[in-house]
Order: sequence, then C-alpha cells, then structure tokens
Amino acid sequence: MDDTAPKTDLIGLSRQALVAEMAAIGEKPFRAKQLWHWLYNRGETDFARMTSISKPMQAALAERYVVGRPAVERDLISTDTTRKWLLKFPDGNEAETVYIPDEGEARGAVCISSQVGCTLTCRFCHTGTQLLVRNLTAAEIVGQFLVARDSYGEWPTPDDSTRLLSNIVMMGMGEPLYNFDNVATALKILMDGEGVGISRRRITLSTSGVVPMMQRCGEELGVNLAISLHAVTDDVRDRIMPINRKYPLKELIAACRAYPGASNARRITFEYIMLKGINDSAADARQLLRLIKGLPAKFNLIPFNPWPGSEFECSDPRTVKAFSDILQDAGYSAPIRKSRGQDIMAACGQLRSESQRQRCSRQQARLAAGIEDDPHHAPAG
Ligand code: SAH
Ligand code: SF4
Repeated sequence: MDDTAPKTDLIGLSRQALVAEMAAIGEKPFRAKQLWHWLYNRGETDFARMTSISKPMQAALAERYVVGRPAVERDLISTDTTRKWLLKFPDGNEAETVYIPDEGEARGAVCISSQVGCTLTCRFCHTGTQLLVRNLTAAEIVGQFLVARDSYGEWPTPDDSTRLLSNIVMMGMGEPLYNFDNVATALKILMDGEGVGISRRRITLSTSGVVPMMQRCGEELGVNLAISLHAVTDDVRDRIMPINRKYPLKELIAACRAYPGASNARRITFEYIMLKGINDSAADARQLLRLIKGLPAKFNLIPFNPWPGSEFECSDPRTVKAFSDILQDAGYSAPIRKSRGQDIMAACGQLRSESQRQRCSRQQARLAAGIEDDPHHAPAG
C-alpha cells in the first residue's frame, strides 16, 4: 500500500459503512462488530491495543485506517465546573464543545456543535454573525463527544446510572437540521447500545424551526425536541429570526403538534430568550400560552446574553420572573436560567469559531478569563 495515501478515519462511519469497509478489504461482518466495540465501548484509538484482534490484522488495519479525534486546542474548566474544549479540525476550522454538569448530581450534558458558524442570522446570536460556515462531518460531531469522554475517562462505556456525561444537547454552534444527514449518522452512532449507548431519551436537538425536517428528525432519531421560539408573533419573530419568514409560527407550531414521540412524559422544550422591550411583556406570555395550547410543552427562559455589538438588552429580572410566573401559573414548567446558567447558555448558544478572528493572545486570554475567572460573563465576545 502507498505509504503517503491518506488513511481513512473509522470514526463517523455508520455500522453499515463499517461493515462495507471491512468487506472491501476481504473481512467478514464480525470484524466490524469487533471494531465497533473497541471504538465506541472501549474508546480505544490504537489498533495495537485491540487485544481481541490478531497482531497481523492489527497491522493491516493500521496501514489503512486511523481512529481519529479532533485536536484539543484548549481545555478550560470554569469555577462552576462547566468545561469547554476548543477543538481544531484538520482544515483549521474550530468548534467548541461544552460539558455542563447538573448541579449537585453526578450527571450532565455535553453540548455539541453541528456546524462551524451558522447560515441563519438570528439577530441575538453571535454564531449568526460569523461569515465562515461549513457543515461538520459525522466524524467531527461524534468526535466532540469522544473527546469529552476521553477527558473524563469514561471508558469503557459506564453503566447508565454512573455516567457523568449522561446527556447530549445539540445546542452548540449551527443549525442541526441544516446538516441533518451528518447529525443523524452521528447521533445514531452515539445512541448505539453496543457502543457509546446514550439513549434517545437523553438527547435533545434544538432547532430554530426548520419545519420540513422536523418530522424526519422525530421519525428517524426520536430524540427530544427543543424549539428556539423567542417570539410569539410573526412580526417580532420575522425581525429577530429571519427563518420565520420562510417557516412562520403557524407552520412551526403545527410541526410541533405532529412531532413523533412528543408526550406528557417527553415534552417539547420551548426556548425563549428574554429581550428587553421586545418579547418580554405579560401580554407576550399570555400569547405564548395560547400559541402552544394543547401541546406537551415546557419552557426554558433564557436571559439574553449580550455580546459586543449586539443590539439587545436583557429583560429586567423582575420582568423575567413575572413572565415565568404567568407560564407556571398555567401549569407549565418555566425555569429561568440563573447567572451560572446564563454563562452556560452563552457557552452553548454563542460558540464561536476562533478561526475567523485574529489569533491574538489578548483574545485568547479573554476566552480563558471569560470562563475561568468570571463564570457570570460569557466568553462570546
Ligand atoms: N441553531 C439551533 C441550535 C443552537 S443555538 C437553534 O437555534 O436552536 C442554542 C440556543 O442558544 C438557541 O435557543 C439560541 O436561540 C440560544 N442563543 C443564541 N444566542 C443567544 C444569546 N445571545 N443569549 C442567550 N441565548 C442565545
Ligand atoms: Fe443559528 Fe441557532 Fe444562532 Fe439562529 S440561534 S443564528 S439558528 S445557531
């Protein structure tokens, strides 16, 4: 074999693709099963340590393949134990992955990005201001979770009840339903019970409302759905989320009503950013209740996290509380993210691509300071 030929990364191949890959080199399907176990149950990256595989076969695999991981450029742990990895892909693009532990619990969620940047330009979102956009590959999406597991040493796959990295939220950079194929391949890999084994019930995908893809998302993946709603009239939503002009509220809510698997036990989360004077009145809250009437819903009220150049302000705490009370009085769960949560949301919603920016050490320092020294301020600037 040509030594200079690039090797194929086995990470990110679906089970079927891995079987096909093995068939192409004259190996039986059991080989793919064996490899799957090493890749996703044991987290092994070195063929030489795959002890159930014969030495000659290990060498043959190593000649053609690699078990890849994104390079970890930075690994930051917040004083509130939130952790961020800045990952770098071979083409120089970067994305951030965040681990958000549940307060006081031995579990938590890994927040994963689906794209570098985002083609949508929601006015409150820093990711939407980034010019450079590309889809992440299935390997890059899976790789984010694998890096997190490597960091916490959660190999082999621990028992469901003892995992620190117990949940996944597709709430990082990018619109996951605009990169559905790769997101679906990646999530199926992560859900596979013979590997990483994160149940679909522990995965939440957040979308700005790509209506035509929602049904398929529910049918094919069956994950929990979160909708970035953020406004209760088309007027306001058109203004702050341009995707609403394509898929207005009526269509969005209809798609939510049709979402496969939504039930009282598995409610749809409506994310709602509190923007001062824009969407935060008592009348807005009452309209919100009318809008989602009859849907198995819960809310997540997110105090807006400002970034340099953003045109909005966060609603006053009292306004946010009043808004939440109206929803709760109607029987819905409507927690407000605390400042720790605000920091986390920033981490989740405003992930940034460093590659777009000048790599000056001051900015690097700010990124570090944002998360290491002051958990109340977003590193999104
Ligand atoms: N593109 C998807 C998923 C990523 S955004 C979506 O829009 O749902 C994850 C969440 O962060 C979304 O609810 C988004 O609206 C929110 N978000 C974006 N910018 C924010 C900001 N400045 N402050 C608070 N939340 C923000
Ligand atoms: Fe994209 Fe979501 Fe940000 Fe809108 S909120 S620009 S869809 S990442």
